[in-house]
Amino acid sequence: MNQKKPGPMYTTPPRKVCPVCGQVSYSIAGVHPQCAEAQADEKRMKKLKAKKPDKTVTLDATPSAWRKPCPKCGTQVHVRKAQCDCGHKFVVQRTKSGVGDDD
Ligand SMILES: [Zn+2]
Ligand SMILES: [Zn+2]
Repeated sequence: MNQKKPGPMYTTPPRKVCPVCGQVSYSIAGVHPQCAEAQADEKRMKKLKAKKPDKTVTLDATPSAWRKPCPKCGTQVHVRKAQCDCGHKFVVQRTKSGVGDDD
């Protein structure tokens, strides 16, 4: 075992460069353990950061089939709500037999 100092006289096998910090890594993976950890952590943080705004998509401002705009205040109210928070009452259309009744 004479692997004290890799001298320039010996042709040393190409060492892997840590893709994280750019320094030569002696580990088999080619990445410093702490660098790999930091990178994984960064990735995870990025994922979390990217996921957060995706989840909190403005639900209130998005009109959908389940929401109807209040003609009084403009708020998107759930279709099943008969009354808006502002006090406006929605006219519920019901199929009442009164017009065009045969028989
Ligand atoms: Zn590194
Ligand atoms: Zn309203």
